[in-house]
Amino acid sequence: MRHLLSLFFLCLGLLLSAAGPVTAWEGKWQVSSFHGVDYVRLNDVWKFYGFSPKQGRPGCVSFGAGNRVVSIRPSKQDFYVNNFRYILSYPVVQSGGLLYISSIDMSKLVDPVLRPRLSQSGRITTVVLDPGHGGHDAGAVSPYAREKDCNLALALKVREKLNKLGFKVVMTRDRDFFLTLGDRVAIANRTPESLFVSIHHNSGRSAASGIETFTLAPHGTTSPFARTRRTEDLAGNNQDSENIALATAVHSAAIKKTKAIDRGIQRARFSVLCTIKRPAILFEGGFVTHPQEGSKISSSAYQDILAQCICDGIVRYTSITRNHPAPIRHSGSSSTRAGTPRPGFGRSSDGAIITYPSRSAP
Ligand SMILES: [Zn+2]
Repeated sequence: MRHLLSLFFLCLGLLLSAAGPVTAWEGKWQVSSFHGVDYVRLNDVWKFYGFSPKQGRPGCVSFGAGNRVVSIRPSKQDFYVNNFRYILSYPVVQSGGLLYISSIDMSKLVDPVLRPRLSQSGRITTVVLDPGHGGHDAGAVSPYAREKDCNLALALKVREKLNKLGFKVVMTRDRDFFLTLGDRVAIANRTPESLFVSIHHNSGRSAASGIETFTLAPHGTTSPFARTRRTEDLAGNNQDSENIALATAVHSAAIKKTKAIDRGIQRARFSVLCTIKRPAILFEGGFVTHPQEGSKISSSAYQDILAQCICDGIVRYTSITRNHPAPIRHSGSSSTRAGTPRPGFGRSSDGAIITYPSRSAP
């Protein structure tokens, strides 16, 4: 089934700036369906942003403008912006000599990452830090490190740095005690003007290492970590754009500074992210089970570096989104609640609102 969506919107800036073999974007998104999922042509995406072909990662198709390079891998779910890795909700499709990206990835990942200034978190004065696990729940354990201790030590260092910069910080725990995921969410939801960073460390095979950052999977997409195929709209989906912008700021700061393996910004339906009503991420600072990385993440010196990265990312996020008005949040039915207040118009697909961007913005 094919859909043709027309946005009767002239985009003069982009018409003028389109370069190279890519002809001008015609002001409409042509939508195709593959395996029941809506897709748009990548050529249209490049045109929309005024991108032209660039030298990029091996095995990838790369486009960009200025010093920004975006790369995708045909048939895969990898998406790179200046070499920072994201995992798309659906694979890039190759069909009839053209490449397609899912509409939901375009709306909920590509656009908020490329234009974070459109993210509207409102005023942020407070950071809720959530060191994972605690008490009888040690989290991941290895001969090199115990997760609950690393989480707490790192969070305390982030608090100190944020306090020095004038942020208020609320800790879900500042000592070694247990609290439920619901307790953590409740603390975040009753803290106004806040964003939420849950801090964890990973476990896996002894060779597994690197940093990954999770945001809530958008409405209409599944979580690769869910036991069942859940695609419903959740309270946390109100902040889809803000979540990915915050993840980008924190994750890129951490990868750039630590040179750790970039496991990407990924989507999940972790309980702690589902019902948070503030911009929220879950940061995994490395593997306790990796001999070298496990030793590093339990050392105070490395925790200092990681804490600075998280802090720098938060500062960057708040400076990008500062001075932008608080979002207009829709209430009522779940299908309107998931809509983002960005320009363009939404269309319901499997009950999910997809808002196609309609014009360039700062
Ligand atoms: Zn954990």
